[in-house]
Amino acid sequence: MKYDRIYNFNAGPAAVPLEALEAVHEKWFNFEGAGMALMEMSHRSKEYDAIHEETIRLIKKLMGLGDNYHVLFLQGGASLQFAMLAMNFLGQGNTADYINTGTWSTKAIKEAKLFGNVNVAFDGNEVEFMRLPKQNELKLTAGAKYVHITSNNTIKGTQFFDFPETNGIPLVCDMSSDIMSHTIDPEPFGMIYAGAQKNLGPSGVTLVILRDDLYKTANPDLTTMLKYSTHVEKNSLYNTPNTFGIYFMGQVLKWIDDQGGIAAVEKVNKAKADLLYGFMDENKDFYRGPVAADSRSWMNVCMRLPSEELEAKFVKEGREAGFNGLKGHRSVGGIRVSMYNATGLNAIEAVVEFMKVFMKNNG
Ligand SMILES: *Cc1c(COP(=O)(O)O)cnc(C)c1O
Repeated sequence: MKYDRIYNFNAGPAAVPLEALEAVHEKWFNFEGAGMALMEMSHRSKEYDAIHEETIRLIKKLMGLGDNYHVLFLQGGASLQFAMLAMNFLGQGNTADYINTGTWSTKAIKEAKLFGNVNVAFDGNEVEFMRLPKQNELKLTAGAKYVHITSNNTIKGTQFFDFPETNGIPLVCDMSSDIMSHTIDPEPFGMIYAGAQKNLGPSGVTLVILRDDLYKTANPDLTTMLKYSTHVEKNSLYNTPNTFGIYFMGQVLKWIDDQGGIAAVEKVNKAKADLLYGFMDENKDFYRGPVAADSRSWMNVCMRLPSEELEAKFVKEGREAGFNGLKGHRSVGGIRVSMYNATGLNAIEAVVEFMKVFMKNNG
């Protein structure tokens, strides 16, 4: 492949579009005639300001966000948002509902408990996180401040496509691993947050989207950097943002836009998932998917082989054949194929060919 690149199935940081890498590379030493690299420029310069505004514009355009949404670029990863959202929106004496569907939801719950009451509206431990809840299984609290959900469970391999009905209570969603992978109606979401390093670009920048009515309820009596109002009022420029990360994210967004937007990317993601899960279903004695069929993630496909020895061999031979990142998360084992937006259908066709040969030689 071009530049001797391999097939990259890393879970995060993960593959980015080659077009974005090339666009950044082209201006690497001298950004648009400025005589310096972008990362050498002030975050108060007019060049950087144009990038900042363009990146916000593309997010709003691609996701169909109205003027009632604030778009922020923060640091500290999605992991800091677990605490920050509860500091800002929960508060002692109040309750928030959390739908626990995996490792990341569990971490979000742990942080929120420091700032108020947490009602676990669904405890996925009871189903080993191998399926998502149905609406009638959710024990929602009347008057909850928000309902927290993890849209794609990166480690367990489940994904929501239909979001819970919350009777007007704002959904707060960790979309770190599937943001912009399929179209959504933003309206029920009071807050969306995502570390960029899975679907939006490099690590070190966290996208936070806040709906104005929820934002207005944020606690104003917090330390400066941890209250949303600081970042809303200063347009994410209170202190130095991750200028390079935001620029790179903008290039990834431009790539999505050039593909035809999120709906076009969704079509490819669906084709990838159909191909890989279809192959697994035809060969389920060898490639067993542990996740319930109606809860399967398009982003992170988990599977088990007949033995751990075969799984280790699969990962090793895969690496030799040019497939990187096939090992499952250390907490669950097995095989995981992470295939975010930037991973093309050709990569899935190639890995399925490899799986056929591996099964023939070891089945
Ligand atoms: C990767 C991931 C995180 C952690 O993100 P950081 O940016 O490393 O803090 C949180 N939630 C989900 C769903 C993830 O996939």
